[in-house]
Amino acid sequence: MKAALLTAPAPIASRPLAVADIPKPTPGSGNVLIHVRACGVCRTDLHVVEGELKPLCDRVIPGHQIVGEIVSGGLPVATRVGVTWMAGADGTCPYCRRGEENLCDAPSFTGYTVDGGYAEYAVARADFVTPVPNALDDLAAAPLLCAGVIGFRSLRVAGVQPGERVGLFGFGASAHLALPVLRAWNCKVFVATRGESHRKLAESMGADWVGAERDRPPVPLDRAITFAPSGDVVVAALASLRKGGVVAINAIHLDRMPEFDYDTLLWGERQIRSVANVTRADTRDFLDLAAKIKLRPRVTVFPLDQANEALLALKNDAIDGAAVILP
Ligand SMILES: [Zn+2]
Ligand SMILES: [Zn+2]
Repeated sequence: MKAALLTAPAPIASRPLAVADIPKPTPGSGNVLIHVRACGVCRTDLHVVEGELKPLCDRVIPGHQIVGEIVSGGLPVATRVGVTWMAGADGTCPYCRRGEENLCDAPSFTGYTVDGGYAEYAVARADFVTPVPNALDDLAAAPLLCAGVIGFRSLRVAGVQPGERVGLFGFGASAHLALPVLRAWNCKVFVATRGESHRKLAESMGADWVGAERDRPPVPLDRAITFAPSGDVVVAALASLRKGGVVAINAIHLDRMPEFDYDTLLWGERQIRSVANVTRADTRDFLDLAAKIKLRPRVTVFPLDQANEALLALKNDAIDGAAVILP
C-alpha cells in the first residue's frame, strides 16, 4: 500500500514525509483493518512531523482523523467507521475507571504511537472505532474526527449553556466546526482571529462579532475557547471573561504561558482549563449532533502524495476550514 512515512521529524518546509510503498498491515486480535477513504489533517500532525511532540517510534504514519471501511477484523465488512487521536486506553487505570479515558495513564495515539491514516489502509482497535452516520459523507466526516470532536469537547469543558456568549479565539479547522454547534444552541458567538480570510469566513458563517487577534469583544463573555497555540491568546481570552467565566484551551501545545495579573484577570472565580484528547462518548455524541444539524466542514483536498504540502499550508494558515488527504 501507499503510505506517508515519518522517520525523522524536521521542519515541514524540508518535506520530512516520504510517500512509499509498504506492505499492507495485518490486524492482530481485537483489531480491524480499514480501507482509508479520507484522512483529515490536524495541527497535531504538524507537531508530530516537526518533532514538537517527541518521537516515540522509529517510524510512524501520521494522521488521526480517519474515515474508512472495515475490510477485516471483528466488525461487519464495509461498515463505515471513524478513527480519532485516541487509538486506545488501558481500561484499568483510575482515570479509565472514572470514565475519563481521555486522561488514561497508558493511552495509545493514532498517527503518533500507532500508525495513522496518511495511507491506503490502517489498523485500529475494534472497540475504539466509531460508526459514521450516513448523513455525513467521507469528506465531511474526516475533519469532524479531531478538529470537530475536540472543539465539541472544548465547549463541554468550558461548560457552555444554551444562549450564552461564547468567544472563539483563533478560527481554524476546529473553531469553524464549533461555530455551527454554538448557533444550534442559540449562543452568541464572538470570534477574534488573525487573518482577513479567517475573519471573512467567521462573518459568512454567522458570527455575531468578528475582530482581529488583539481586539476585545464588546461585551463580557461567559465562556471562551482558545484555538491558537499561543499563551498570549489565552491571556486575551481571559481578559474578555465575566466573573465566573471559563477559558478552555484547545491546543495540545502552547508556545509558552506568559505572566499575567491575577487580581484583574483570574480573581472573581474565573477559570482556565486545558482540553486533553477525547472520549469515545464525545465522538459518538458529536457525530450524531453533526448529522442532525447537517454540519458541513469547509474542506481543501490534497492527494496523499501532497501530504507535506497539506501540512505546510496548515502551518502557513493558508487553509480556510480543514485540509483532508485522499489516499
Ligand atoms: Zn488532531
Ligand atoms: Zn486508562
